[in-house]
Amino acid sequence: MRPARALIDLQALRHNYQLARELSGARALAVVKADAYGHGAVRCAKALQRDADGFAVACIEEALQLREAGISGPILLLEGFFEAVELALIDRHDLWCVVHAQWQIEAIEQAKLARPLTLWLKLDSGMHRVGFHPADYQAAYQRLLASGKVAKIVLMSHFARADELDSPRSEQQLAVFQEARQGLAAEVSLRNSPALLGWPAIPSDWVRPGIMLYGATPFEQPHEAASRLQPVMTLESRVISVRDLPAGEPVGYGARFISERPTRVGVVAMGYADGYPRHAPTGTPVLVDGQASRIIGRVSMDMLTVDLSDVPGASLGSRVEFWGRNVLASDIAAAAETIPYQLFCNVRRVPLIYSDD
Ligand SMILES: *Cc1c(COP(=O)(O)O)cnc(C)c1O
Repeated sequence: MRPARALIDLQALRHNYQLARELSGARALAVVKADAYGHGAVRCAKALQRDADGFAVACIEEALQLREAGISGPILLLEGFFEAVELALIDRHDLWCVVHAQWQIEAIEQAKLARPLTLWLKLDSGMHRVGFHPADYQAAYQRLLASGKVAKIVLMSHFARADELDSPRSEQQLAVFQEARQGLAAEVSLRNSPALLGWPAIPSDWVRPGIMLYGATPFEQPHEAASRLQPVMTLESRVISVRDLPAGEPVGYGARFISERPTRVGVVAMGYADGYPRHAPTGTPVLVDGQASRIIGRVSMDMLTVDLSDVPGASLGSRVEFWGRNVLASDIAAAAETIPYQLFCNVRRVPLIYSDD
């Protein structure tokens, strides 16, 4: 069997969830959209089910997958519904729903529902993606209340630059939010992972941790609270071929690496079709049998090459860690000019192997 695989540590996932709660002092919706950032939404939600105040997903398809797997707690649709017909399913499966646009309010007014809805009313406080304009926010709130279709409204907004700890933008967005919600006595949800970890003074009755649940820091710089996270996914494989090259020989597509000295090359069963980033350059760190090494040459679809010259004892079958407990996904993301979110979401083809102790 091909040795590439992703180990998923559910104990670490629970640790990170509890840390989100502890740091925020708030109730926390575990964000498991996009198949739990590549970690497997059903297995992750089941592992968190006993502890979690609820879950958040991007769309009804993802919510129904959780309901079908027996997840019975609150599930929030972070973008609400895309078409009015989804309201029947939202009603039947008792889902919570973001409302970010006027047409959604009109659809709710016209819907025939068995029970009142829990809605999260989204303000555009400056990210300018979705949400109500501050000038329209109070009217949207009042109109939803007046619809008679609503059990509860949570006030929410989302930060564009919470990962930049020296940026004034998050506080500016908070000020816009506070101004827009004046006089509305309702619960508030503002903080995603970077806001939760990096902006402790920003209020939130509900937090929405995503990336931190999976143990990766959203920050580019070292950060005390983020250093308490435990990596959940370990992406690993094994050396499937070894060869010794003299100086001056090329390795892989495009001869992007040419040996400067006699080099022992290990070929590893891992490629961009598994989600390892093709843009990881020569020098990107890996761990071979627990020892530091580096990628050399281009990452190809099913294989990549590592430098075994300074890894004594490495041979056919040596274990290679690409990210996980020892190699931080955020470091690999930085080397490949992306973010850990995308590394995790891209993982495919490899089996996900779960452990829970
Ligand atoms: C994805 C998402 C989150 C989670 O963000 P992280 O940075 O992964 O913590 C929170 N809120 C909303 C609205 C989202 O879309």
